[in-house]
Amino acid sequence: MPAAVYVGGGDIAVRDLPVPAAGPGEALVEVSHCGICGSDLHLVLEEFARPGSVLGHEWSGTIAAVGDGVIEWEVGTRVVGNPEPGCGECRACRSRRPSVCARRAATDYLAFSGAFCRYKVTPVERLLRIPDGLSTRVAALTEPTAIALHTVNLAAVEPGDRVLVTGAGPVGLLIVAVLVTRGVRDITVSEPSSVRRDRALAVGAMRVISPEELVRPPMGVVVESPVAIAFECSGHADAAESALDQLDFAGTLVFVGTGSKPPRINHNRMIIFELTTIGAYNYDAAGFGPALELLASGALPLDALIESDDVLLDDVIVTMHRLAAGELPGKVMVRPEVSS
Ligand SMILES: [Zn+2]
Ligand SMILES: [Zn+2]
Repeated sequence: MPAAVYVGGGDIAVRDLPVPAAGPGEALVEVSHCGICGSDLHLVLEEFARPGSVLGHEWSGTIAAVGDGVIEWEVGTRVVGNPEPGCGECRACRSRRPSVCARRAATDYLAFSGAFCRYKVTPVERLLRIPDGLSTRVAALTEPTAIALHTVNLAAVEPGDRVLVTGAGPVGLLIVAVLVTRGVRDITVSEPSSVRRDRALAVGAMRVISPEELVRPPMGVVVESPVAIAFECSGHADAAESALDQLDFAGTLVFVGTGSKPPRINHNRMIIFELTTIGAYNYDAAGFGPALELLASGALPLDALIESDDVLLDDVIVTMHRLAAGELPGKVMVRPEVSS
């Protein structure tokens, strides 16, 4: 089967790999689409990935075969993955945050068996059926939608809150779209790329600005239009620092974009305004079900959230560079085929 394989040196090449076999309790899924995630960009372009690995975790597909003992899943069923549940007992699980379960096996971010390829094997207990009326292609947006839901839920946003989102890449756009479904209207998006600013308006932001427009207030003084909650989705240190400066008394800064250079946190400002910072990673205890339902509900502006042109395996690396450069605002879907 064709696969986009990380070959080292920040590069990806299309290779022919054997089709994996579904073992007992597993299904072989023919991948329909797989979104390119920001973490894929970090792993490839910053050269963290292990040469020989296949990335891509935001997949959807159709069951092509099942292993021994699988009776409840049929070939031809359209599916997405669901995250592993936590142990249910540790402190993280008891506070309904199983994605940081303390008893989880240490994540090996490098040993990845992803879906930038034609077929993928998954344990059937990790499968969710795609609802009728939701296309398999759009269902590949389930994982990032689950992240946006988790992020917004952790932040406990209320409809009347004034919100700032820094960074309008795929995650920032999804967070804006989820906020709109929660009745939040006063959303400002700060983003240097004009194509991404335009897309933020299309998914429901009330206003867009470029990062220089965020003022640096004097110590102990709130800005003119302070926000209750800021979602930092860019991963840039200066964006996080200026997002903190925009918070109102008792405001919350949510970190959701990762980056290589950590921000400097103004602790005096945090103390005087009693600010909170939250890290949002992965998913709610309910897994991907609510994200699938939201996608199927028609409440999200899918055409603005997903780039209209799918990418084939041979164009994955070029597209990763375009995403890193901010040229593509929405989620790019990879179709696991090669151009002939
Ligand atoms: Zn992802
Ligand atoms: Zn646990």
